[in-house]
Amino acid sequence: MMDQVINVAVNYPLYQTFKYSVPNKIGKVNIGERVLVPFGKKTIVGIVVKREKQVNKDKINYILKPIIDIIDDHPVVNLEIMKICTWASDYYEYPLGQVIFGALPSQLKQGVPIANVTIFENQHKKLTAEKLEINLNNEQNSIFKKILRNTDSFSTSLIHGVTGSGKTEVYVKLAQEVIRKKKQVLIIVPEINLTPQTITRFEMYIDENIQSYHSGHTLKEKMTTWLNVKNKKLDIVIGTRSSIFLPFKSLGLIIIDEEHDSSLKQQEKFRYHARDLSIMRAKSLNIPIVIGSATPSFESLHNTLLEKFKKYNLTKRYYKTDLPKITLVDLTKDLPQDGISKFLKENIANTLSKKQQILLYIGRRGFSHALTCLECRWISKCKICESFMTYHKNQKLLKCHHCGNKQSISTNPGKCEKCSLVPVGFGTQRIEDKIKELFPDARVGRIDSDAISSVKKLRDFINRAKNNEVDILIGTQMIVKGHDFPNVSLVGIIDIDSGLFNLDFRGLERTAQLITQVAGRSGRKNEGGHVIIQTRTPKHPLLDILLSKGYEDFAMKNLNDRKKANLPPYTHLCLVRMSSSKKITAFNFLDEIKCLFSEQKSIFFLGPADAPIPKKNNMYVHQLIVGSKNRTVLRKITQEIRQYITKKKPYNIKWSIDVDPIDLY
Ligand code: ADP
Ligand code: ZN
Repeated sequence: MMDQVINVAVNYPLYQTFKYSVPNKIGKVNIGERVLVPFGKKTIVGIVVKREKQVNKDKINYILKPIIDIIDDHPVVNLEIMKICTWASDYYEYPLGQVIFGALPSQLKQGVPIANVTIFENQHKKLTAEKLEINLNNEQNSIFKKILRNTDSFSTSLIHGVTGSGKTEVYVKLAQEVIRKKKQVLIIVPEINLTPQTITRFEMYIDENIQSYHSGHTLKEKMTTWLNVKNKKLDIVIGTRSSIFLPFKSLGLIIIDEEHDSSLKQQEKFRYHARDLSIMRAKSLNIPIVIGSATPSFESLHNTLLEKFKKYNLTKRYYKTDLPKITLVDLTKDLPQDGISKFLKENIANTLSKKQQILLYIGRRGFSHALTCLECRWISKCKICESFMTYHKNQKLLKCHHCGNKQSISTNPGKCEKCSLVPVGFGTQRIEDKIKELFPDARVGRIDSDAISSVKKLRDFINRAKNNEVDILIGTQMIVKGHDFPNVSLVGIIDIDSGLFNLDFRGLERTAQLITQVAGRSGRKNEGGHVIIQTRTPKHPLLDILLSKGYEDFAMKNLNDRKKANLPPYTHLCLVRMSSSKKITAFNFLDEIKCLFSEQKSIFFLGPADAPIPKKNNMYVHQLIVGSKNRTVLRKITQEIRQYITKKKPYNIKWSIDVDPIDLY
């Protein structure tokens, strides 16, 4: 008698899969099917990931438990998705079961048979408005034609298009061609907030079925979209990073917009990069992938140098406005008052008098970075994290942006009888206060995650700004990302120095991206855009190259420095973080790992050292960076380290592995 033996992945943080036998009465079980299995004392849902060679019953020298039942009559995970999940699980050292279950809608995770799931019958509302014909300009058209020639097989194209150049119209044209061939298109944007405007742009021109996919949808909506891409009732999905796992029936093109954006990388648990996974998926499907940005990541630019990616430049703005003029203000000479220099103040006044809009960018929300006492030098530190607590003036609170710890402000937090408290650094609220004081008649709007808590609020704000109901826009990252404010003609960057002198080797790359992206918000449709950057180091050599020669020259110079310093993309890194309630436990275990593997060739270690936030939620956090020029060697070592951790880790340590980390320091 021959028995079927299968390998099953389960939705637990476990690195192994489990063998079960299949009773004859159940019949043949295929890869990707869901099965009910006994697991400890429970019955749980598993996914078949492998079928073993059939074995003779007397040869099984241990007794395998039989599966209880099979849930559907078809696989819920097709072989293509299985392959990408397996690759991702290996590459990112994350348990296969959790990767696969992560790719499934909630009802399927829980074991509801696919025949019984509840969906919306007609989720999709097709707009019947008249569609516009796209007329690409010469530059757009030539790129479109060139990329189109490569759409029958795998290739990666990077569109480096200045802000306002109309990358989106090129994406739309390509999508139309792919849909004409009866294939589907996936467009990934870094942020949920960017999905509505991208959908609007596509729907202006395209009459096919378009659906968004992100964490703002209900579970039932997500289930519906999952089924609709599988049955090909949808032609286009515009979604955030997790849409890379949707089971398209016939995917023909992937587009990643704002490919440089760090939100494309998941920063917790399963730490994958949606751009890199998309490239893997496109490769495995043998379809094209197009990635685009006004400020491509250095990784991608490096890949164009290696000729792994083809690069196309859109050098002109569609509305032929010049890129804005940039002025540096030397804050050591033009001493700022509450963050605003005289030069910036005059230019704001001037712009207001012309009835044009102003946008001010500040890196941090809240009122100030911290609060300190001038007398006793007390400073607002979080007792749980040891990071600074941000002062939120309106609520009279100190808040830790890392752990959420809140504290009201007393009159004597330090050693004085009554402390003389002053704010340190600037947040959006402090600038807002000052601007309102300086320009009491101007209508001021603030955009940060304190003021704007939902996609709808952001959309309302953007609409108000577009209708000229706001004169001065003040905000964080949130306003920089891809939004189009046609009437903004002056942009002020309050403080660039923290970015220029960041510890992280990506600090300069991010600062250049920020300056370029923020600057791109100005003078979109009107002539004469102006950007004012306040800095204490106006002679910074890289700032100089960026402003005189542009982003790409800046990138090439910086890449050269990275090469000399053996930094990514010339080396590959993996970050191991551990935390423990006793300071020494995590540190020692990381050190043990380092010693164990330090004999290995072509590997280097940095650390163990304190993590950037050395204490978080009352746990001490340490990190060890492992690097190599050779990706294969690094992958092998990473796997061995992970295996060592799972076997030998002291019980009171929490740990994570981050392959290709983007936040090191
Ligand atoms: P990108 O897509 O590169 O981010 P933006 O959205 O910043 O470009 O700005 C481009 C502007 O020009 C948009 O308002 C867009 O609708 C318009 N545009 C670009 N290309 C075309 C085209 N071929 N036809 C009509 N409008 C276009
Ligand atoms: Zn804290």
